[in-house]
Amino acid sequence: MSVHMLPAAPGNCQVCATKHDPSQPHNAHSFPYGMWFQLEYGRDPTWADAVAHCTEEVAMQWKEQLKRIGRWTEPKDGKPIATVDKSGGVPVMRKLKNMEPVTVSMRKGKKDE
Ligand SMILES: [Zn+2]
Repeated sequence: MSVHMLPAAPGNCQVCATKHDPSQPHNAHSFPYGMWFQLEYGRDPTWADAVAHCTEEVAMQWKEQLKRIGRWTEPKDGKPIATVDKSGGVPVMRKLKNMEPVTVSMRKGKKDE
């Protein structure tokens, strides 16, 4: 199946079509992100996926804030999928070229440095 979506506006994150700093989470509720993620991975993105590309510090801040308001979500299998916009905000047709989704595991507990 080949699905193409219109590119996001220039300067916006090409993953979630929302304007945010690359170091910050994707908008987990963004329609383009949700649709692409569903087609790619067969499930909806969660907040754990949306923050998975962030530094541990940024991810933890968002996790704490979202948990506080009861909105934190994570995948049932416990394996968030990080997605990075490598286009530098340049509009591209999805499937995005130069964008390799990376699977990472959320570290739990103490830092291991
Ligand atoms: Zn984004």
